[in-house]
Amino acid sequence: MQDFIYASLPQRVRFGRGTLAGLGDELERIGSRRALLLTTPEQAGLAAAVRDAAGGRIAGHFAGAAMHTPVAVSAAALAELRRLDADALVSAGGGSTTGLGKALALRSGLPQVAVPTTYAGSEMTPILGETAEGRKTTQRDPRLLPGTVIYDVDLTLSLPPGLSAVSGMNAMAHAVEALYAADTNPVIDLMAEESVRALAAGLPAVIADPQDGAARWQALHGAWLAGICLGNVGMALHHKLCHVLGGSFDLPHAETHCVVLPYALACNAPAVPQAMQRLGRALDAADAAQALWQLGSRLGAPRGLAALGLPESALERAADIAAENPYRNPRPLDRPLLLALLRQAHAGDPPRPM
Ligand code: NAD
Repeated sequence: MQDFIYASLPQRVRFGRGTLAGLGDELERIGSRRALLLTTPEQAGLAAAVRDAAGGRIAGHFAGAAMHTPVAVSAAALAELRRLDADALVSAGGGSTTGLGKALALRSGLPQVAVPTTYAGSEMTPILGETAEGRKTTQRDPRLLPGTVIYDVDLTLSLPPGLSAVSGMNAMAHAVEALYAADTNPVIDLMAEESVRALAAGLPAVIADPQDGAARWQALHGAWLAGICLGNVGMALHHKLCHVLGGSFDLPHAETHCVVLPYALACNAPAVPQAMQRLGRALDAADAAQALWQLGSRLGAPRGLAALGLPESALERAADIAAENPYRNPRPLDRPLLLALLRQAHAGDPPRPM
C-alpha cells in the first residue's frame, strides 16, 4: 500500500475506424476555420484525405516534419503558420509530426488536433524533445498537450511491418516503466497492465497480417494507453538509456527502445516484484524480461545495439553519460551495473540476471 496523487490531463480522444471523418467537427468545436496541416515529407500524401475530412478548414500544409524536432524546422513551420494566419494545428503522422505540432503550439499558443499514425504515444503527453546544434533537450509543459486526438485505426494500416514492430515496442516500454515509476498510481497501473496485454496480443497479429483491422485496433488501443502512462508518470532507467543512445550516439528512436527494453527490465526486476507480477500476468509468462525479448524476436525486430550500428567501443562512454544524471530508478544504479546492462544489450542475446 502506497500513498499516491492522481491528476488526469485535459484531453478529448476520438478512437475507432474511419474517425478521421470527424476532423471537421473537431475543428468546428475548437472554433478553427484556418488550420495548418503538418506531415513529414513521406506522408505528404495524407493531405488530400485530411483536407476532405476537414471540410474546407485547412488553410495550408507544411510537409517538413523531421525526427527529434529540429528547431530550424519549427522556425520554418512557424513562418508558414504566420503567413497563413492559421488558427489551429493539425498534425497527422508519427511522433516526429506530433512533436512539430507541439513545438508550434508552444511558440504560438494555438490549439492542436493530433492524428497519430504510429504507436509512439507522443499525442498523449505534455512532453517535447527538441534538437539544436546536435543537442536534444526535453521539456514538460501543459501547453504541449494536444487538446484533441483522433485515433483512426485505418491510418495505421499503411505503417510498414518493421516500423509497426519497433514502434509497438516503443509503446510497450512506456507501459513497462510506468509500472515501476516512483510516482505511479492505481489508475496508471491498470492502464499499463492492459496496455502490455493489448500490445503483446496485437503486435504479432499485425506482423502476420498488416491489413488486419482488428489487430491494428488492439495495437493502437495498447499504444493509446501506453501514451497516457508516459504522459502521467516519470520514466526511469530504460528511457534514460534510450535518450542517451539516441541523443549522443544518434541511434534510431523506436529501434533503440525495442532493443534495450528486455535488458532494462531484467536489471530492475529484483527491485520491482509487484510490477513483475503484473507484467507476468499481462504477458502470460513466468519471466517478463525473457518474454519481451522473445516477443521482439517474434516480431522480427532488430536484436542488439550492435545490429543498430553502435560500436562496442562506444559502450564505456554511454555508461559514463547514463551514470552522470540518472533518472529516478527503483534499483540503485552505478556505472558497472549500467555497463553490464549495455554490454548485454549490445550483444542482443536473451537477457541474463544482473
Ligand atoms: P516518426 O514519426 O519519425 O515516423 C517514422 C516514419 O514513418 C516517417 O517517415 C513517417 O512519415 C512514417 N509513418 C508514420 N506513420 C505512418 C503510417 N501509418 N504509414 C506509413 N508511414 C508512416 O516515428 P515515431 O517513432 O512515431 O516517432 C519518433 C519521434 O517521436 C522521436 O523524435 C521521438 O523522440 C518522439 N517521441 C516523443 C514522445 C513524447 O512524448 N514527446 C513520445 C514518443 C516519441
